[in-house]
Amino acid sequence: MATASIAILIAGAGPTGLLLGLTLLQNGVQVRIVDKDPNRHPGYRGSGLQPRTQEILRFLGVLDDVLALALPILPLREYKLPGGKEELKTILLVPHEDPTPPIPYPTSVLLGQYNTEAILRSHIERLGGTIEYGTELRSFEQHADRVDATLVTSTGGTEKTEMVPYHYVVGTDGAKSAVRKRLGFSFVGETRVEGLMLLGMVEVHGLETQHWHQWGAMAKGGLIFMPTEKPSYFSFILSGDAEELPNLLADHDALRKTLQKRTDRDDLVLGAFEAVSLYRPNVRMVDKFGQGRVYVAGDAAHVHSPAGGQGLNSSVQDAFNLAWKLVLVEKSLASPSILSTYTEERLPVIAAMLQKSTVLYDAMRKSQEGGWKRGDELRQLGVNYRWSSIAVDERTPKPEGPESVNPYGSGADGDLRAGDRAPQAPGLVPVHEGEAASLFDVFRPTHHTVLLFNLPAQETERVLVAAKKYPSGFVKTAVILPQGTSDLQVVGQPDLAFVDRDGHAFTTYQVSPEKPTIVIVRPDGVVGGIVYGVGGFEKYFKGIFSAAGVVKQ
Ligand SMILES: Cc1cc2nc3c(=O)[nH]c(=O)nc-3n(C[C@H](O)[C@H](O)[C@H](O)COP(=O)(O)OP(=O)(O)OC[C@H]3O[C@@H](n4cnc5c(N)ncnc54)[C@H](O)[C@@H]3O)c2cc1C
Repeated sequence: MATASIAILIAGAGPTGLLLGLTLLQNGVQVRIVDKDPNRHPGYRGSGLQPRTQEILRFLGVLDDVLALALPILPLREYKLPGGKEELKTILLVPHEDPTPPIPYPTSVLLGQYNTEAILRSHIERLGGTIEYGTELRSFEQHADRVDATLVTSTGGTEKTEMVPYHYVVGTDGAKSAVRKRLGFSFVGETRVEGLMLLGMVEVHGLETQHWHQWGAMAKGGLIFMPTEKPSYFSFILSGDAEELPNLLADHDALRKTLQKRTDRDDLVLGAFEAVSLYRPNVRMVDKFGQGRVYVAGDAAHVHSPAGGQGLNSSVQDAFNLAWKLVLVEKSLASPSILSTYTEERLPVIAAMLQKSTVLYDAMRKSQEGGWKRGDELRQLGVNYRWSSIAVDERTPKPEGPESVNPYGSGADGDLRAGDRAPQAPGLVPVHEGEAASLFDVFRPTHHTVLLFNLPAQETERVLVAAKKYPSGFVKTAVILPQGTSDLQVVGQPDLAFVDRDGHAFTTYQVSPEKPTIVIVRPDGVVGGIVYGVGGFEKYFKGIFSAAGVVKQ
């Protein structure tokens, strides 16, 4: 078998595979992205984009395109039956919140998954990447130095089979993942027999677009219409019994009549349907995210109810967590052992997410208010990896393991630690020239960012010299001078130097005026280290640039 000419195979071009592909391409890693489906996904599905996902999309340069199309999450109005017009109750799903300096995107937004995917695809294409639709990963064999993948491309009734070597394979191939099955991973959990739903989009005239609209409790056969970015089209969720719903899948006249009947309103005019599918919630997850040279991410690794809109968002975070580690290994900068931290970090987070979304789902089916309200944790800003073996924290002792923290919430408990989301800080004025910037303008999936606060001149020099020992371009240093600094002398040659004009960086990163502090932010926008000097700095990067001979002596 020849050596791999393309480093990484991504099997599955849903949001997880696309985001992984884009991140790898931005890092200059060659990828091949295949999807067994000859067509693009049409469905609305994972439409709720949580604040943390918006931040990740910003780091990738994709967010502006997303926000240009996205809609806000609207209040849910339930109607009395019979009649279907009189309000029974209205629930504010997401309380209005203004952006704050550390949290620029406080609320989730809605965008049909097909649009999110189209945007990711267009960014991949701008980098010269392509997605091969109609090509399926059938099987693979792992070897010490490669994975041999068997790919089958179907065109016009004929199949072409190729066997291609890759350094790594990532299965982003959805809930029925062939990659997961081939790895022999367990997928433990439950299938909700009672939760069958019919989902899709339908053209509706005569219904206002300032609310989500609900008729009947979902547990007893309910219907929800939600406005979409496509004019006159609403996405719908119809619950019902297992006898009735499958028959409506292909019979759109019968489906139209059923929807109309559920609303009990003859003033609504229902037109064409798009992407109608049956959906039964499963609550399952793997017990590890990869083995050897093959990994799984997204729905291939975990499935759950749509309640709370966590699925696509968690999937995106899997991909973003894995991508930078794969980059460093692929570029021979990190030892492959760093890839084990993908499971170590994501598994507890996903276990917590499954538990939360299931509680929400049960409440939602009973039409309990809590089931719809999108609580703080669902924004995923508190997702953290405080227990991670690569995190270094000299400010606060690391927890023993994930059991001693809330993997889904502790990162937003007001106590910034290594492993937490790195918050935004605007109002950074460049010392030399240029416009005010923010930390989110500096964080990118291509490098670590090292923020130097209050370091004495000599220690700054030491850190900058130490940083030069690491591979060029992978560590960006930024000196942050306190608010009101008049002496703009910067020691050495950091990549960036800012005055914290409004004090947000010092406040948000909890740096007291006198205390020398170094905060190291990983390429996935997570605080990797909080240390006090060059010793801690080198300790952190020893765990990252762990491949032999990478660090210059
Ligand atoms: C009704 C509904 C509502 C939802 N609402 C939300 C929400 O509001 N917010 C949220 O975050 N999530 C939501 N989700 C979940 C979200 O849709 C999924 O989590 C998301 O699609 C997962 O993306 P993925 O890329 O991992 O998998 P998928 O989107 O399933 O993509 C997998 C891809 O892999 C391809 N594939 C499969 N096998 C192979 C193979 N062997 N070789 C090559 N390609 C292969 C498939 O064709 C597919 O294109 C919802 C889901 C549903 C059903």
